[in-house]
This record gives sequence, C-alpha cells and structure tokens, in this order.
Amino acid sequence: MALQDPVAVYNAATNIEAQLVRIFLVDAGIEAFAVEDVSQVGTWAFGLLPEIHKPQVWVDRENVEQAHSFIVEYERRSRADESEPRNDRFCYECGESVEQNVSLCPSCGQALDWSEDTEDAT
Ligand SMILES: [Zn+2]
Repeated sequence: MALQDPVAVYNAATNIEAQLVRIFLVDAGIEAFAVEDVSQVGTWAFGLLPEIHKPQVWVDRENVEQAHSFIVEYERRSRADESEPRNDRFCYECGESVEQNVSLCPSCGQALDWSEDTEDAT
C-alpha cells in the first residue's frame, strides 16, 4: 500500500478538500494519498517530504494523467454545485437528487412529501 513513484496531483485549499479529492480518486479506482499538513509528515508512508506547506493529494506517476482527468471532473462538479440555482431537491433518505414534485425517490423508493415547501404555492 505504497506508491512506487509518488507525484502530487492536487494542491488543496484545506485538509478536508484534500480528503475529498483523495476519496474521489480512490472511488474511481486510483490509489491516492492525502498529505494533510506539515504536522502529518512524520506519519507519511514515505517519511519526511520537504516543502509541504499545504494539503496535497498524491498518486503514483503512472496514474497521473488519469488522476488529472478526474480532478478536472471534480473541479467542474464543485463549480457546478456552487453556481447552480438551489431548486434541486434531494431525497432525505438517500440524498439522491430528484426532480421537483416527484413523490417517490427513483433511487431508494422513499416517499417524498414536499407539502411543507410552499414557496411555489400561493
Ligand atoms: Zn432516496
């Protein structure tokens, strides 16, 4: 469980973001590690790594191109989350996004009750 030839593919703004990117890559089948900050370097599998001042995500060199493509996708989704209008609804059972006024979640079958949401009703 160690990278042969580690390459930093993402400089995250926060430790949390580094973890999100790492999870995103791992979910995509790419072995990835997050280095959270300088204080974590002592526990990092490769020992001391100099010049680390911010959380980074590392992958093996052979996965760099694939990782980059997924990171582009990750960033695109992040921007979309911020810019899209907040009229999407989410199943409160499983979190799946659902269309407005759908009464059953298409993902988990949870009955959805929007009756308390009266912003469109007059
Ligand atoms: Zn659901």
